[in-house]
Amino acid sequence: MNAIDISLSPQPAAGALADAVADIFGELGLSLAGDLGSDLDVLSPIDGSTLASLKMHQPADVDAMAAQAQAAFLAWKQVPAPHRGELIRRYGQLVREHKEALSRLLTIENGKILTEARGEVQEVIDICEYAVGLSRQLFGLTIASERAEHRLTEYWHPLGPLGLISAFNFPAAVWAWGTTVALVCGDSAIWKPSEKTPLTALAFGKLLQKAAADHEFAPEHLVQIAIGGAECGGIIADHPDIAIVSATGSVRMGQDVGVRVQRRFGRAVLELGGNNAAIVAPSADIGLALRGTVFAATGTCGQRCTTLRRLILHDSIRADFVKRLIATAGSLNIGSPLADDTHVGPLIDKAAFDAMQRALDRARAEGGTVHGGERIAIAGSPDAWYVRPAIVEMPAQSAIVREETFAPILYVLSYSTLDEAIALQNGVPQGLSSCIFTNDVREAERFQSAEGSDCGIVNVNIGTSGAEIGGAFGGEKVTGGGRVSGSDSWKNYMRRVTATVNYSTSLPLAQGVKFDLDID
Ligand code: NAD
Repeated sequence: MNAIDISLSPQPAAGALADAVADIFGELGLSLAGDLGSDLDVLSPIDGSTLASLKMHQPADVDAMAAQAQAAFLAWKQVPAPHRGELIRRYGQLVREHKEALSRLLTIENGKILTEARGEVQEVIDICEYAVGLSRQLFGLTIASERAEHRLTEYWHPLGPLGLISAFNFPAAVWAWGTTVALVCGDSAIWKPSEKTPLTALAFGKLLQKAAADHEFAPEHLVQIAIGGAECGGIIADHPDIAIVSATGSVRMGQDVGVRVQRRFGRAVLELGGNNAAIVAPSADIGLALRGTVFAATGTCGQRCTTLRRLILHDSIRADFVKRLIATAGSLNIGSPLADDTHVGPLIDKAAFDAMQRALDRARAEGGTVHGGERIAIAGSPDAWYVRPAIVEMPAQSAIVREETFAPILYVLSYSTLDEAIALQNGVPQGLSSCIFTNDVREAERFQSAEGSDCGIVNVNIGTSGAEIGGAFGGEKVTGGGRVSGSDSWKNYMRRVTATVNYSTSLPLAQGVKFDLDID
């Protein structure tokens, strides 16, 4: 593959990004002194430069964290939930005050364009507000008892420490979805961020620790951060003191973590890979569908779990739509995510680039025609991995199309009947996000019905990515079935109690069972 030498935006001077990170930590009033070491070099995808080198936690450290998290849980669960909410209110305020610095840090470490980084930080602020409200709404039920003078109720108690393992692509939001809700539910928390984005984790996590240190009732070690890779995540998965393991990442990771947590009957919340599709029907507003498609397929350089990976076009509109799609993808500005006019920043690393090229080769071998997908060389950044998003016309939904490749590749398929389109949409192992562009109300409803999309997220006239925090987020099949937050997902972080109170003077048994005893 030949690299095209274009320089769309200025790149920072050598070492400038590491200096910017140091300045950001200074502005946040946080120190990295205790975290620096030589185990883990953190690189910026913007230019491949080293931002910092960190110590990794060893198994014994994670073990000690679990014991501390248990002790913190025993204290925190006794604090009334609205007081727990007060911690999250103060944390949300801190994140709001430092939104711009945190967004820049996120862009520098993860490579998503600044507007998307700001959106992710806003999501952290939003989930804080949601969790504060939730802290006064952790309600149970009253259920009709079949026995006279009995009261049957259901209520919720804190469950135990949360171990949250997160992916590089949303290095702050997914953690905040789970952790802020778990904290108001009365649990303590350990965060094992991706080894590719530990600095963002240290910034967000330390700010929460700072808010906790100033909170009247928050115990020591309420929130801890474990820096490490898969081995560190494995210790969390296995640890009997960690009641809930929320793990976001690849299906392969989830298959390992899910089994390990289940083996000890812990509670697993799994948010795994997606392979999301859009159907564009003949009645669709084509301009809207095109805009929605291009953003969903190329946002975060195709590295969102909800990235649009399959486009299912009606035969009657296919030729024109594909032509416009290829032209639009070809006109995107690719370059530094810190520049205002950039649409697509870099891939996270070379491994992501190699995986993309392997997928494109397989697509060609399976009969596909590839448009774009080449490396874009940016002057001064030979160690960064910028690409032109690929549009791949496929003759069928072949093996490569059924896999998630975490890069901007959009496979184009076609259909003639809605049944056929729904069968294609559902015909993959993943079940995260889906959408249909249509102005036909029957098609829109059918797509959302039980006969329609089998995904956890089903959209009409909106792309597959960019969910709001209020709705439960997650998917079915190999996506794992978990819902980290939104709607009633808070129940993942609590234990349900069913309580029956007899306020009569007799002892009627349920289902009319007789058990007469001669007792005075
Ligand atoms: P990854 O699976 O490589 O790593 C995710 C996290 O799991 C990291 O913290 C990693 O250290 C840890 N890990 C990896 N293997 C582990 C193991 N065997 N035991 C314990 N921990 C382990 O994923 P990634 O490359 O960081 O992220 C991309 C993937 O995440 C994609 O598949 C994407 O679809 C998925 N994702 C899903 C959601 C969702 O909500 N469904 C959200 C974001 C990302």
